[in-house]
Amino acid sequence: MIPHSTSARETNTLWRPYTQMKSAAPPLEAVRTSGSRIVLADGRELIDGIASWWTAVHGYNHPHIRAAVAAQLDTMPHVMFGGLTHAPAERLASRLAALAPGDLDHVFFTDSGSVAVEVALKMAAQMWLNRGIAGRSRFLAFRGGYHGDTMGAMSICDPEEGMHRRFGAYLPAQLFCDLPTDDATTEALERALSEHGDTLAAMIVEPLVQGAGGMVMHAPATLARVAEAARRHGLPLIADEIFTGFGRTGTLFACEQAGIVPDILCLSKALTGGTMALAATMARRCVFETFLSDDPSAALMHGPTFMANPLACAAANASLDLFETEPRLEQARTIENGLRDGLAGLRGLAGVADIRVLGAIGVVQFDRTPDLAALKARLIESGVWVRPFGDIVYLTPALTIAPDDLDRLCAAVTVAVRQTLDPSLGA
Ligand SMILES: *Cc1c(COP(=O)(O)O)cnc(C)c1O
Repeated sequence: MIPHSTSARETNTLWRPYTQMKSAAPPLEAVRTSGSRIVLADGRELIDGIASWWTAVHGYNHPHIRAAVAAQLDTMPHVMFGGLTHAPAERLASRLAALAPGDLDHVFFTDSGSVAVEVALKMAAQMWLNRGIAGRSRFLAFRGGYHGDTMGAMSICDPEEGMHRRFGAYLPAQLFCDLPTDDATTEALERALSEHGDTLAAMIVEPLVQGAGGMVMHAPATLARVAEAARRHGLPLIADEIFTGFGRTGTLFACEQAGIVPDILCLSKALTGGTMALAATMARRCVFETFLSDDPSAALMHGPTFMANPLACAAANASLDLFETEPRLEQARTIENGLRDGLAGLRGLAGVADIRVLGAIGVVQFDRTPDLAALKARLIESGVWVRPFGDIVYLTPALTIAPDDLDRLCAAVTVAVRQTLDPSLGA
């Protein structure tokens, strides 16, 4: 018999993400979402400042995406992708190929960002094997990066600061460099590539913003330097746009701002407009062609059970429709201005190390890790859903957020940050 429970919060069977189950405050129970609002079981309504880990770019419950998923549900919720194909996947792949920069024309679907990264790593590794070149068994990644929670992805996350640092002994050793933001780091990258380039299978970078590693931004010129270094050393470049893709930085893809075309591109998060699990690993023709062979073992050796799930593809196609028919990129730029204005009151405040904004991403960084539990409680108290981590509070709202809601978000963050820095300001 299923034990009777009056509230989802009373169950102790769920093991929650990144959560110390002994001491964590019980999670809030969400019962409904719409637009930029999350409605809780107790009737409270929160303005969502982070769009469910920045997936819900069109806001929650967009009628166009709902209708597309409902229609797909009527005809074919799922069918295996080995030996079969279907219109939602075919259409989505060709639309993504048309939207992505350059000749990133070959799309491999998976079901999460981490797995999209695993596939990218495997693609790069097998590309060398297929060309008969051995010994390229490592990847170059950048300090401060985050690429996912599976073992391969963990190995290329920041080895010191990242949330996976305790697992070092379990992970393949990779090569880490600082992003080439100045002369010293550019020379250090060049040195690492000259010394170790022929042991590397690929370089991987998060274009313009290192997301879960701390929302650290870099200039398009830095990204261009990374791409140029990869090209000069004959290494494929993997761009992990799982966070930055689909308008978050003000362009559809962050790579566009540096005018670069990565060899492999990873997408997920906002791909389905925040409704279904889906990810894509896209490859340029030169990568794809190394897998064409009379030898069956040269084929890409990957195939998730729920690959190209038709419901998820239908949601993603509907999400792309909305990018075509509604002014999402303009909205991202409007949000950029709103965030700059809305967070300006915190600039220069003692205890605030930095305020930074790019597209629809706003970040407040403390000069040390604050009392996060108290800060989270204050934010919820003031009616907003924001999840500070480490020494930062960030906002990544839906691109459709109403100007009033954005103002209220910024005001709530401003008050909560001030109170955190000076508790005498009251609760
Ligand atoms: C979220 C994220 C991932 C991992 O995606 P999951 O769907 O959580 O596995 C990888 N890279 C970046 C940049 C991300 O933001």
